[in-house]
Amino acid sequence: MAEVAVVGAGPNGLAAAVALARAGKRVRLLERAPTAGGACRSAELTLPGFVHDVCAAIHPLAAASPFLGELPLVAHGLQWVNPPAPLAHPFDDGSAAVLERSIRDTGETLGEDARRYAATVGPLAEAFAELAADLLSGVFRMPRHPLAFGRFGSLAWKPARRVAEARFEGKRARALFAGVAAHGLAPLEEPFTSAFGLLLCAAGHAVGWPFPRGGSQRLVDALASVLESLGGEIVPGHEVASVDELPWAQAVLFDVTPAQLLRLAGHRFSSRYRAMLARYRYGPGVFKVDFALSGPIPWRAAQCARAGTVHLGGTLEEVAASGRAVAQGRPPERPFVVLAQHSLFDATRAPRGRHTAWAYCHVPHGSPVEMTDRIEAQIERFAPGFRELVLGRRSAGPARLEAYNPNLVGGDISGGSLLGLQLFLRPGLRPRPHATPDPRIFLCSSSTPPGPGVHGMCGYLAARTVLGTALRARRASAVPRGLRRLGLGARGTGV
Ligand SMILES: Cc1cc2nc3c(=O)[nH]c(=O)nc-3n(C[C@H](O)[C@H](O)[C@H](O)COP(=O)(O)OP(=O)(O)OC[C@H]3O[C@@H](n4cnc5c(N)ncnc54)[C@H](O)[C@@H]3O)c2cc1C
Repeated sequence: MAEVAVVGAGPNGLAAAVALARAGKRVRLLERAPTAGGACRSAELTLPGFVHDVCAAIHPLAAASPFLGELPLVAHGLQWVNPPAPLAHPFDDGSAAVLERSIRDTGETLGEDARRYAATVGPLAEAFAELAADLLSGVFRMPRHPLAFGRFGSLAWKPARRVAEARFEGKRARALFAGVAAHGLAPLEEPFTSAFGLLLCAAGHAVGWPFPRGGSQRLVDALASVLESLGGEIVPGHEVASVDELPWAQAVLFDVTPAQLLRLAGHRFSSRYRAMLARYRYGPGVFKVDFALSGPIPWRAAQCARAGTVHLGGTLEEVAASGRAVAQGRPPERPFVVLAQHSLFDATRAPRGRHTAWAYCHVPHGSPVEMTDRIEAQIERFAPGFRELVLGRRSAGPARLEAYNPNLVGGDISGGSLLGLQLFLRPGLRPRPHATPDPRIFLCSSSTPPGPGVHGMCGYLAARTVLGTALRARRASAVPRGLRRLGLGARGTGV
């Protein structure tokens, strides 16, 4: 009989299950979809032989994850592909700023800002392993590497637009930084948006922006294989409707967002915790298009063909305007588009000579507006002739994404808004954010620290909370009964 149930086999559910199985627990993972992986799966979405990443596609955070780094994922079939350049950001004049693996080479594409870029990002890239360990290991702990953390923090709290305009003089570096910061899905005028720009630029130099050969699915398949090697069990096609269905589990970890947790287990919580979950805010959505192509994308700026990811948004002003429109509830006419071109570097993604492209833009929460044409127009703008290569396409707006995976509420890919304090306090202000008032129930999704991305750290930290709760329970039961009656000794799971 399993001791622990994990509901949802996304990257965080899998990571939680692996961490608990590694600690010797008997774990059963229940997943509503026919396959494990959550928002990190791959499928032939367009034509036979074309492998598309249904959701997550580019994985600097997985490569930086302290927990995933401890696991034998390569021995379980994972192969990383690191394109020569992580990112290109083309301009209308046919040139491009390029985030290269080396700071120096990057600077050469940034003209007058080469030295300023090196001074801003270089020290963070050098201390990246320490920085990532601190940033991805939760908020309520002292940084283990205060120097790197302090350097990061001195800029990270500022709006990305302010940092870009203060640190850089030319349009190229400003636009490159703005595009990377836009991954925070918040207007660039908001505090803390610099954090995304700084972290992801530094990651590009330190670990690259890699992806798994064969599709993102291979990363979660490797996690699932590690879990099974540790005796864990995965039950696909099992949708859990209520925590009451799982009386056998001494601890239940939910890889879901707060609105779902309320439906599944709300009756087990205090009214105060229920109100906190109900107050949780969701962020903008995305509109995504996958393409099957008859050839490589004909970029006007040839350097774009060296990059796994290409940001299509022109200048900082244009990227910023796109983010503001989304925040004001208007789908942008010229959206900022994130595009990945895996098949240029991974021949397993498409039939010989053919190619894939993965592209999305941000849209207002739940927006029903069709964005395929606007996304294609942005690609065509920087790669004239693109449309003639399209053999097949498949679009998915917020409703389709949420139907695919109920964690993508209103198309929100971050498990909740990243604006304001909710960037840190997920799902709210709690000393142990992965625990709930019910000592048997835990939250392990990207709606908990350290937040979205395929890094598994939310699951890992939730598993540590479960194990810590169990330890407290054992200590409490060691307290003599008389003292326990006086309220000394904590409640906990019996895991
Ligand atoms: C379009 C898109 C693009 C993205 N791009 C990237 C990227 O390039 N790089 C990156 O790092 N991140 C990216 N992300 C974000 C990343 O995918 C998520 O942050 C990550 O998958 C969150 O993992 P999770 O385990 O918390 O949740 P999820 O991956 O959403 O998994 C939750 C799982 O729980 C299951 N579930 C829900 N309710 C139940 C229930 N009642 N019973 C049983 N099972 C249930 C769901 O079916 C799902 O499998 C992207 C996301 C999307 C949608």
